Amino acid sequence: MHELSLCKTIVDTVLEQMKKHDLPRGSLLSTKIDVGAMRQIVYEQMQFAYEVLTKNTIAAGSELDITVLPVIIKCNSCGWKGETDTIMAYCPECFSVDTIMLQGKELTLEKLEVR
Ligand SMILES: [Zn+2]
Repeated sequence: MHELSLCKTIVDTVLEQMKKHDLPRGSLLSTKIDVGAMRQIVYEQMQFAYEVLTKNTIAAGSELDITVLPVIIKCNSCGWKGETDTIMAYCPECFSVDTIMLQGKELTLEKLEVR
């Protein structure tokens, strides 16, 4: 369950930000994150990890709002650029594996919603 370690990174940042801005316990409503599809997270496990990790912290009771970003690749052979749902990042146009990933590995804290 790699969700736990990914989520730990997020929760650490959340708690850091809350302390920095002097936000009291219960003031955080939700944490919005962007996760690249390459991370292959299990939604429920991510939610569960968040709940466990925020329990007994100042972020307790807040929700995790996950947006999954699709994988976007660019082909160096034919120049094709677009979304792909495959983990094998080859070009759907010319089947070249000479591609670069423009999006898909993100793990970003997008926004904290406070009351
Ligand atoms: Zn191509």
